Amino acid sequence: MRVVFLGPPGAGKGTQAKMLSSDAKLAHISTGDMLRAAVAEGSDLGKRVQSIMDSGQLVPDDLIIDIIRERIAKPDATAGYILDGFPRTVKQAEALTAMLAKQGAAIDAVVSFELDETELLSRLANRRGAESRADDDVTVQKERLRVYKEQTEPLIEFYGSRGALRKVDASGSVDQVFQGLKQAVGR
Ligand code: AMP
Repeated sequence: MRVVFLGPPGAGKGTQAKMLSSDAKLAHISTGDMLRAAVAEGSDLGKRVQSIMDSGQLVPDDLIIDIIRERIAKPDATAGYILDGFPRTVKQAEALTAMLAKQGAAIDAVVSFELDETELLSRLANRRGAESRADDDVTVQKERLRVYKEQTEPLIEFYGSRGALRKVDASGSVDQVFQGLKQAVGR
């Protein structure tokens, strides 16, 4: 099973991805985690992306597409995976479709975590301080949300018109959301 998680920053995608990954034995592929690891290592990639990430912008499509191409070719991804944080633009989604088509494969489900703006802002406020991420500063959070609406939200329509989209109410407790998620992916 190949699953894509979509949703604004603060919707709880990372937590749900970890839970589904252990429940369904799927690799959890988080592009944000991979990039943060590169920054922490001080690799060339890390140096290239740090300031972009700290400002709440997206790193270049070509760069992240190459990272995903390599990652999904690793042995632990053959049994299936959850893409958490990729694709984030229509260009990335088209590249993913093309990449999979070459292997005769496709994405099985795209889960959209739905949360209204008031709830989202209060969750983001709670996250400040709780996690020490450089991009959790309030100005950067707002920028991340703006970038999400502008560049990532169109993917809901993109996948909706291709019939793969499943909406999950992300406003409940972690366990409630997980139940909805399991239903959405047929587990
Ligand atoms: P995340 O942890 O998924 O919120 O990602 C943290 C940051 O990493 C984002 O704000 C972007 O700067 C960068 N990033 C992660 N995934 C992508 C992606 N698919 N495309 C572009 N930038 C990304």
